Amino acid sequence: MAHAVKFHPSLSLLEQYTEGTLAAELSLVVAAHLDFCPHCQQLRHDIEADIGCQLAQQKAVNADGAEWQQMLQQILSPDASQVTAATTAPETFATHIEQGQHRIEIPRSLQRLAAKRKKWLQLGGIATAKLPSGDDNHLSLLLIESNTEVPLHTHKGLEITLVLAGEMVDEMGKYAAGDLIINTPDHTHTPKNISNEPCLCLSVLTAPLEFKQGLTRLLNPLQRFFY
Ligand SMILES: [Zn+2]
Repeated sequence: MAHAVKFHPSLSLLEQYTEGTLAAELSLVVAAHLDFCPHCQQLRHDIEADIGCQLAQQKAVNADGAEWQQMLQQILSPDASQVTAATTAPETFATHIEQGQHRIEIPRSLQRLAAKRKKWLQLGGIATAKLPSGDDNHLSLLLIESNTEVPLHTHKGLEITLVLAGEMVDEMGKYAAGDLIINTPDHTHTPKNISNEPCLCLSVLTAPLEFKQGLTRLLNPLQRFFY
């Protein structure tokens, strides 16, 4: 691996990912981060083991063998359901993102969704393409050309960006593939790509409602971790 990932999800975010309680769009970002990050993969295994232990204790109290086995299996192999779904309905996968003259490889967890991306919209050195998502959150790809600054913007919800390829810098530091950049509504920053390569990112914008209701619990540990 060319470099070590520096900016990780908080433990709380990983726990909720493992428990399956995160919004789908956020789960996707965490899954894509895991594709880059052996450190967080190990943490997830530890969390799974903990959950397994808790279930085992529950089982000792009210033994219901078959049901418990099924539940445990689901938790320990989160990919199993996807495999089944893939065999019933063959799906297309995009192993690369192509835009202009660029062709950039993307992590495995994104390949199914990337095949369903909408048209690229170009604004100066920045191109964006929406990915399918729920009503409350916006999921999109961002391609930032070399030597391009992202215009200062505000957002009412939480903005989470995962670098998929290339590099970005802002006031907080330098981000490379696998790094998570988390921004709250009261935090403005000016990310730029000052490298000679394009930078591809996955971005999630949560709606304000989602932010107030569902993400408050996430936000505190994230703030501790990132600010
Ligand atoms: Zn990590």
